[in-house]
Amino acid sequence: LVVLDHVDKWFGDLHVLQDINLSIARGEVVVVIGPSGSGKSTLCRTINRLETIDKGTITLDGEPLPAEGKALASHRAEVGMVFQSFNLFAHKTILENVTLGPTKVRGMDKGEADTKARALLERVGVANQADKYPAQLSGGQQQRVAIARALAMEPKVMLFDEPTSALDPEMIKEVLDVMVDLAEGGMTMVVVTHEMGFARTAANRVVFMAEGQIVEENTPEAFFTDPQSSRAQDFLGKIL
Ligand code: ATP
Ligand code: MG
Repeated sequence: LVVLDHVDKWFGDLHVLQDINLSIARGEVVVVIGPSGSGKSTLCRTINRLETIDKGTITLDGEPLPAEGKALASHRAEVGMVFQSFNLFAHKTILENVTLGPTKVRGMDKGEADTKARALLERVGVANQADKYPAQLSGGQQQRVAIARALAMEPKVMLFDEPTSALDPEMIKEVLDVMVDLAEGGMTMVVVTHEMGFARTAANRVVFMAEGQIVEENTPEAFFTDPQSSRAQDFLGKIL
């Protein structure tokens, strides 16, 4: 579904992505882990072209990513993104946050968008918060709204960049539960996370990055029990 082929990117002198080859199948859940600064966020951001690449190609469903304009906007609608900071629209209600994309980008009528948004809010467990504003919700609730907002666009793939890192411990689980539910429902997902429990339960594949390269990829079982590279062994030694 998503294919990165010989992708390179530089930030000035920094070779932040180095010959990245990664193919994500429909329905696959790929967890990306690695040390700080290894390029995980940059990798995610290239997939919806929040970052451009200098070499190589990225395709979604066989189509190269469009460079600009309407085509880029519709590409972004197909790629849901959830960030560490929830990035909800502060001056819109929870319901409006979720209906905005479908009405503005997809041209859905308001009634239909409302019905759909309420169903999604129900699915992520915050249906009773629909008329509040983001600041009135807990971090965990806001992040679940951010997931519902992304899902409202019916994306082909969902990207999560450390979605639980800004949350208090008791709220992490409620967000991970939603993500596990999505994974089990067959959503194609790329998840940057330090939550190894999530990787073990939900991932089909773990991709380990260091210094801009994919150093190792494997099933979670194999990766966690028998990491091959010394960099992965070091990293796991520090976090497990
Ligand atoms: P973390 O675990 O800390 O989130 P990461 O693996 O997500 O790290 P990236 O955010 O992708 O790492 O950053 C990779 C490298 O690129 C870092 O050295 C970072 O400082 C650098 N970098 C990121 N964004 C930019 C930018 N816009 N301009 C210049 N350098 C950048
Ligand atoms: Mg990052």
